[in-house]
Amino acid sequence: MLDVVVVGAGPNGLTAAVELARRDFSVALFEAKDTVGGGARTEELTLPGFRHDPCSAAHPLGVNSPAFRALPLERYGLQWLHADLPMAHPFRDGTAAVLSRSVGETAASFGPRDAGAYRRLVQPFLPRWDTLVRDFMSLPLTALPRDPVGLARFGLVGLQPSTWLMRRFRDERARALFAGLVAHVMAPLGGFATGAVGLVFALAAHARGWPVARGGSQAVSDALAAYLVDLGGAVHTDYDVKRLDDLPPARAYVFDTSPTALARIAGLGNHYANYRYGPGVFKIDYALDGPVPWTASEARRATTVQIGADRAEIGAALRAASREGRAPDPPFLITVQPGVADPTRAPAGKQVFWAYGHVPSGWSGDLTDAVERQLERFAPGFRDRVLARATAGPPEIAARNANYVGGDIGSGAASGLQLLLRPRPSLFPYATPHPAVFICSSATPPGPGVHGMSGHNAAKAVWRRLRQS
Ligand SMILES: Cc1cc2nc3c(=O)[nH]c(=O)nc-3n(C[C@H](O)[C@H](O)[C@H](O)COP(=O)(O)OP(=O)(O)OC[C@H]3O[C@@H](n4cnc5c(N)ncnc54)[C@H](O)[C@@H]3O)c2cc1C
Repeated sequence: MLDVVVVGAGPNGLTAAVELARRDFSVALFEAKDTVGGGARTEELTLPGFRHDPCSAAHPLGVNSPAFRALPLERYGLQWLHADLPMAHPFRDGTAAVLSRSVGETAASFGPRDAGAYRRLVQPFLPRWDTLVRDFMSLPLTALPRDPVGLARFGLVGLQPSTWLMRRFRDERARALFAGLVAHVMAPLGGFATGAVGLVFALAAHARGWPVARGGSQAVSDALAAYLVDLGGAVHTDYDVKRLDDLPPARAYVFDTSPTALARIAGLGNHYANYRYGPGVFKIDYALDGPVPWTASEARRATTVQIGADRAEIGAALRAASREGRAPDPPFLITVQPGVADPTRAPAGKQVFWAYGHVPSGWSGDLTDAVERQLERFAPGFRDRVLARATAGPPEIAARNANYVGGDIGSGAASGLQLLLRPRPSLFPYATPHPAVFICSSATPPGPGVHGMSGHNAAKAVWRRLRQS
């Protein structure tokens, strides 16, 4: 009899497995696909020698993750690589606002009217960032806050809708960049606690940057899997779990799956029937003949580039996809050009590049033309650099990974209370009605992103239960 079986080898399943194996529990992990990684993998999707990240590529949450930072992942090959700038947000006039490691450079890029407001927004939290990120990502109640006062102060600001925070800014540059940050989790700009989303991404940039993983995001997963094996854990791929009976006997089962799949597999009935999924994305991976020809020079120095002319355009794109059931035109785009920091991704002189825009859940249209028209507004001549492209809309994204229901890469809507309290409002979100079954995917706090903190928190719930029994 094993101590723990983990289902799903995404960053959270792998982290949960590692955390438990480190504490001397016997662990076996089962993954549906033929490689580990889930949303942190790397493949030659287009042409030989072009190493694409089909899902995550930029890692502000990974490099700042208290769980990852406590593991010896560098020893297993993980290397974070930083560009000159973590992120740039270009405008139609050829200039750009930037998210730099330096608060001063970031504030200056917003212009004189908003520089002070930005400093006043972020600076109080930066000296306490390491404690704050740990406390925030361990909510609710998996650990007592180390700095309850700091967390409460952050809550007072972060629980506000991002639209309230943006009122502190007078010009469009800061507003557009901040709105774009919130859109990374596909949250409605006026939603409860969306201020925290924007703030976390901004603070993460100032604290440790938004790096890429050398060789691709697969390096994150491979490091976790190699460490797990060294700790005595077993990894089984090509093993799609459909029923609890498919798994060997164990004292606990931890699911890195959607709540819907977990309910089906573990026979939990309607337990997660109220769980809501969000809009999908349409993603394009490009092999390029050279760097993206951005007009704004700052965009050529950043690994992540947000594309949205202003806050209104970004808000309209989010509304179209999440509320109006139609594809946005122009779409708001998140793009990543790993080659700015990592020369290993493509043959000499060439680049890999990805872009995605939000579309309604399950949308089966083709957004390629709208994406490329939007790119051409900020990088004229982009299309001439394209050697090959691989597109994936919601049906393909959901087929690649069962957690992305309807193409929702957040594995659950980031709106209303569900942004923070997921998969159900509960002080024990990782537990289920089955005493031996737990959930650890990004459908649990702290939500989407490659950070392993859902896996870390769930593992804690598991080892507490196992030590009691
Ligand atoms: C296009 C895209 C871009 C993204 N960009 C970023 C980014 O730049 N930065 C960032 O931090 N995050 C990004 N994300 C989000 C990030 O990838 C996810 O939030 C993260 O991977 C979630 O981790 P997880 O372990 O919860 O689940 P996943 O990574 O989704 O892994 C779940 C795993 O479980 C497996 N599984 C599911 N059901 C079963 C079953 N029944 N049996 C066996 N195995 C099963 C799946 O095959 C998968 O391997 C992106 C995601 C996508 C899709």
